[in-house]
Amino acid sequence: MGLPIARSSTSATGKSSKFNTLRPKVNRNATLHNVSFWLTISLAVIALSYSIFSFPVQYLDSNLLVLTVATLFFSVFAMIQIPRIKIHITISDVLVFSALLIYGVEVATLLAVIDTAVGSLNFRRKGIEISGKTILLNCSISGISIFLTAIVVTSMFGDPKAVAKGQDFSAIAVLVCVMAGVQFMVNSVFVSIFTAIKTERSLWRVWYRYCLNGAVISITSALMAGAGVQAFYNIDSVLLVIAGIVAMLIYFTYSRYVSDVRETAEQAEFAERKRAEQAEQHIEELQHHIAQQQVTEKALRESKEKFKHAAYHDSLTNLPNRNMFTRQLQFLLKRCQQKEDARFAVLFLDLNRFKTINDSLGHSTGDNLILGVARRLSNLMRQKDMVARLSGDEFAIILNGMCDIEDVKHFAELIRKKLAAPFSLEERQVFTSVSIGIAIGDNSYETAENILRDADIAMYQSKASEKPYVVFDKRMHAHAVNLLQVETDLRYAIERDEMVAFYQPIINLKSMRLIGFEALMRWNHPTRGLVPPGEFIPVSEDTGLIVPLTMWMLRDSCQKLADWKARFPHAKDLMMSVNLSGKHFAQDDLVASVKEVLKETGIEPRCLKLELTESAIMDNAESVISILQQLKRIGVRLSIDDFGTGYSSLSYLHRFPIDALKIDRSFVSRMESGTENGEIVRTVVALAKALGLTVIAEGIETIHQLHQLRILGSEYGQGFLFSRPVPLEEALELLAEPDRWKNIMPDHRMPIVQHKASESILQLGDV
Ligand code: C2E
Ligand code: MG
Ligand code: MG
Repeated sequence: MGLPIARSSTSATGKSSKFNTLRPKVNRNATLHNVSFWLTISLAVIALSYSIFSFPVQYLDSNLLVLTVATLFFSVFAMIQIPRIKIHITISDVLVFSALLIYGVEVATLLAVIDTAVGSLNFRRKGIEISGKTILLNCSISGISIFLTAIVVTSMFGDPKAVAKGQDFSAIAVLVCVMAGVQFMVNSVFVSIFTAIKTERSLWRVWYRYCLNGAVISITSALMAGAGVQAFYNIDSVLLVIAGIVAMLIYFTYSRYVSDVRETAEQAEFAERKRAEQAEQHIEELQHHIAQQQVTEKALRESKEKFKHAAYHDSLTNLPNRNMFTRQLQFLLKRCQQKEDARFAVLFLDLNRFKTINDSLGHSTGDNLILGVARRLSNLMRQKDMVARLSGDEFAIILNGMCDIEDVKHFAELIRKKLAAPFSLEERQVFTSVSIGIAIGDNSYETAENILRDADIAMYQSKASEKPYVVFDKRMHAHAVNLLQVETDLRYAIERDEMVAFYQPIINLKSMRLIGFEALMRWNHPTRGLVPPGEFIPVSEDTGLIVPLTMWMLRDSCQKLADWKARFPHAKDLMMSVNLSGKHFAQDDLVASVKEVLKETGIEPRCLKLELTESAIMDNAESVISILQQLKRIGVRLSIDDFGTGYSSLSYLHRFPIDALKIDRSFVSRMESGTENGEIVRTVVALAKALGLTVIAEGIETIHQLHQLRILGSEYGQGFLFSRPVPLEEALELLAEPDRWKNIMPDHRMPIVQHKASESILQLGDV
């Protein structure tokens, strides 16, 4: 057996060392290494030179030859590497020690050098990379260590052969131990020096970690050498041969065993490596999976945030939306519940005429206007306030902590002013205005919906009254609830057959004879009784229900007229007036519907008169003119109702294809109180004459009014003086006696004053 460190496989400089742990890191100490290297080589040269020059020639015999051959054989072929610790056991080391005991320093030194050189070359032959320099160094260390061992042993025990042959076993034991100890120490110190320089570790650590376990091998080899020499000289040679054979058998059995162990160890190592690789792969997969999961989680988090943002913000303006606004209201109301004096103001805003802007200038301009409004409102907000877009052209504002109603009104006024300035949209100046409803939030409110509802009601009030802002009060709510009820009931009114027509006669003021009726709608409400039109027509206009209601009225009146004409021969020229709402002009099918009704009922178109208010036709004059022209072409008569209360533009008036003006009853009723109203009536009559229109005076209640109207030249009239609007049966009675009003005034035969057109125009200038 031999110390591995002196072998090529455990080389001190070994680039090819199997001790991976000894692989050099960075050689920063090349000089020290070179000095150590050449010092070692020099020492080896001295030892070798001495051994060669003082070689005892008398020892050259067959025994030495056998020993040398055996050493080389074992050095090459009979080497066992102990698994895991990578130490080589070889019998050649035993033989080198034996040579020292039998032949002394010279033979042992030469044999050690040769043994190491052959062993190293054998490693190289097997493919292990060992440089020539390393082989040289290993041989040198091997030679020096045996040389010094031999010198120490000889100086301590004299001729080692004499001791080894003798019968003093304790002396032999001491000799063997000294031999092993010195050889191990010298060898291991040299190897440690080179390894420590190469790996830049401390000498002690290298020696302790990598060389110390070689001591066992040295001692074992030395002991075997001592025992072998003892046996060779003192035991029968046949026995020695048998012992040798047995030793060989044990050696080869052990060798086999070791190779099995190594194989098993290698298999285990392979399995372990495989498992480690799998574990590594698994970790890689796991890391990949975790990374993927993190990416997914991030994407999820981002999309969650986006969704959350979308859920609480308006996509056009990026302002908070209704959800967010309601949440904030809920939060503030909760605070009001906890803190009694906590207050805040809610402003509900709606742009006026936004629909018109949207329809006429296009949706993209509409969107830009909304964006502009949003920007201006945002600029007015304080840090703690909130402005939200609720829908379309509706915005809402929370003024946190602002509860003084004067401050809130002042703020509303500020908003009005800011939004009144023109918006430059797509190279166009667009004007808008806003209606604002104000509600003050305090602990009387329980839900966000309620306070928002109240602000909304106040906003409607502001729109209806054309005031820029209105502060909510409790009566508004009751009113709104009532309106809602009306609206709900009204939706079922037609199908439940609750609508009724009343008829008010229209009289020719010259002949005092009945010439027709105005059909006026009533609602026979199941609980409220007969509801006058003033209470449901505005709601029906707001909700669009006016269209089906009037269509019902139109059809019913025309049927009745057809019926009456059939029953009363004198009624062949009888006319029926039906009121139209402005909402009809937004319907494409108005003309077609009228045609259809006429066709269905067989009424002559000239017997149907459609009454339109001034505002209904002035709101959208150009498009209304075209519809009126179509109606006119059918042959239907048209008159402007409540004339004088609206804002008829005189420049437009002559362009409307109308037949008559109905003077509003407010002028008629006040004719007696002052001459001014009389003048107005006179002017309207003159205007009508100038435009070639007939005049109907509404609301004649007294003989005096009738008298005056006849004098002023009004041709037709209607009013309580003749009859209130009456139900069907009573209308039939009136129809049966069309001349019943002939004697209403004693001087009925008095002729009506005829105005000349030239006079009328003169009088128009007076008004
Ligand atoms: P209008 O078309 O101007 O109808 C005349 C209104 O004056 C009627 O009120 C009538 O009862 C009232 N009246 C007539 N003579 C006198 C009088 O001497 N003194 C007073 N104080 N009042 C008089 P009514 O029936 O309440 O209708 C009110 C308004 O409702 C109508 O005004 C009309 O604008 C609207 N309306 C009625 N029926 C319909 C309908 O079927 N369709 C539409 N769109 N509107 C209708
Ligand atoms: Mg009317
Ligand atoms: Mg009227």
